[in-house]
Amino acid sequence: MNEYDSNRILDLTKKINYIKTNYSNNADCYVLNTCHIREKATDKVYHDVGRLKKEFRNKKKPIVIVTGCVAQAEGEILLKREKYIDAVIGPQSYHLFNKTILNLEKNSKKIDSTDFDVIDKFDNLRLIKNSNNKVSSYLTIQEGCDKFCNFCVVPYTRGSEFSRTFDDLIDEAVQISNNGAREITLLGQNVNSYNDKGKKLSHLIEEISKIKNIKRIRYTTSHPVDFTEDLISAHANLPKLMPQIHLPVQSGSNKILKKMNRKHTVERYLDLIKKLKVENPRVKFSSDFIIGYPDEDEKDFKSTIKLLQKVEYINAYSFIFSPRPGTPAAKMKMIDKAIAKKRLMSFQKIANEIKRKYRNNLISKISLVLFENELQNQKNYFFGRDEFSNPIVVESKENLVGKIKQVQINGGNQNTLFGRIIQNSNNREFAA
Ligand code: SAM
Ligand code: SF4
Repeated sequence: MNEYDSNRILDLTKKINYIKTNYSNNADCYVLNTCHIREKATDKVYHDVGRLKKEFRNKKKPIVIVTGCVAQAEGEILLKREKYIDAVIGPQSYHLFNKTILNLEKNSKKIDSTDFDVIDKFDNLRLIKNSNNKVSSYLTIQEGCDKFCNFCVVPYTRGSEFSRTFDDLIDEAVQISNNGAREITLLGQNVNSYNDKGKKLSHLIEEISKIKNIKRIRYTTSHPVDFTEDLISAHANLPKLMPQIHLPVQSGSNKILKKMNRKHTVERYLDLIKKLKVENPRVKFSSDFIIGYPDEDEKDFKSTIKLLQKVEYINAYSFIFSPRPGTPAAKMKMIDKAIAKKRLMSFQKIANEIKRKYRNNLISKISLVLFENELQNQKNYFFGRDEFSNPIVVESKENLVGKIKQVQINGGNQNTLFGRIIQNSNNREFAA
């Protein structure tokens, strides 16, 4: 979401002639777009500002703006503690960027814009063309969260659930498609809670499917509780909707899920996975896990491992619990750090092994790959993703950017698969 936001901030500042520079040491304005989801986010801000101070020691000081969720959560403190920061702008106040920069050009008074003004923000953004021209583009459809998981800062930093209007989103999807996008990933903290006067995520996917040049649609991040029947059916009925679903579970123990205030049980989660597989047997899952949550014991951890092995996630993102100031879980008693670390390592070892086996299985099979870009340092090598978001690199004299090709996988390392373009795939097996 921060990537989408950063691009939209650039679309805005273009209006006052502030454009992107690839050379940060000659910037007139320096924007730090921050994430507050886990600890050390604030430390990173001070660290980055320290680096800036050194870089600009003998030059004119740039305007320094901190934005994103750290600005929202700790804006006032940042401004007081670090004089080099000129303004903090919360994620709901991006539309104030130009005004802020112009004011700072005129006088050096510090500016704090961290009010929740989400309607104003999107009303302003819709007037500005999205100039993103990536083959695979993001589109934020929903922001904020009403779920209040006990560990999470999002409801406090991004505010309550808000859905953008259906018509604005279709307009923006057409814009991105005209710019060259072939894939759109719909974004939201709870993307499947999207609801604009009864129009839901499935309706949006159906309508975007009608845009001829958009070949693939994805969405992230969905919450198990908001997975409605229409969205499940969409995975069977809308061929442009990709068969990979990111469905965070956080823990495989009902005791811990309850303490997290997740509002779903392991059984209900597995039932959802079963339903999705019945509708579309090709779907594969990725997930987020929090390891070492307060009160997690060996039995709870084993249940998490059991779930990991049962679902065979093709990607499992795992994090040690990080107490976030102001959240209920921050007041709970932490488990021993060394134990949490040990559990995380053992979790990741098993998750990597599952992923390795899955990727090995792809070898010699055919994948449909949408190519996004030529590698920066290697001419004639192109990067793309298959339907399950697996990263794949092939060599080709033909420019593949924006094209979907059949690729036979012939190897890979921990991060990337390698393959070759296949012209005729008769009698060859496609990746499941
Ligand atoms: N809304 C999604 C859901 O709950 O299904 C998740 C979005 S959240 C912004 C991204 C991920 O960050 C979460 O799934 C969780 O695993 C991780 N996360 C959030 N707060 C955390 C914390 N305090 N400690 C560790 N990980 C955290
Ligand atoms: Fe955070 Fe996701 Fe829970 Fe909302 S549902 S509070 S975004 S983890």
